[in-house]
Amino acid sequence: MKAGVVSVQGAAPEHVRALEAAMAEMGMKGSVITIRKAEELEQASCAIIPGGESTTISKLLLRSGLHDLIVKRAEEGMPVMGTCAGCVLLAKEGDEEVRKTGTKLLGLMDMSVDRNAFGRQRESFEAPLEIEGMDSPFPGVFIRGPVIRKVWGDCRAVARYGDKIIMARQGSMMALSFHPELSGDTRIHRALLEMV
Ligand code: GLN
Repeated sequence: MKAGVVSVQGAAPEHVRALEAAMAEMGMKGSVITIRKAEELEQASCAIIPGGESTTISKLLLRSGLHDLIVKRAEEGMPVMGTCAGCVLLAKEGDEEVRKTGTKLLGLMDMSVDRNAFGRQRESFEAPLEIEGMDSPFPGVFIRGPVIRKVWGDCRAVARYGDKIIMARQGSMMALSFHPELSGDTRIHRALLEMV
């Protein structure tokens, strides 16, 4: 089993470490690979799209052919998790900033995102989060994260910060406004691996 982290730009190494820790805790055999080209994604059984700069990541995904392949593999059921900028990219709809920057979304999840919703209020912060299906709060680390403004269809909100949706799930996909790879808590990475 190979778990992949899309590593064209952004916070990929932290996700590699978190997946390795999660695998070890689960006693799962496998390895973690970084994904920069289509051939690498072909080998992966699940993938993480990390935080970073969503416009830059979207350009690099298009240029490398990864954009279309991520869509294809996700539609075939490959588990995918997007955190922060990755959450923006998984959405079907973005806000004015997404449109202005010409960011091409993957459009896989039935949700609309507000790209820098938290950035405009508070740049970075930590907060304990109640997540559906978890019996104790998850330490949420937010860094200029997006807010999920609306979900519809098969997409379900599974965590909120105040009245804002900050985590959603749809089939084997998860989108998070925050950074679980920086929390030292591997429950969300384990949830991704459990879907493989
Ligand atoms: N606001 C950034 C963007 O959408 C995401 C920030 C992050 O991933 N930490 O590009």
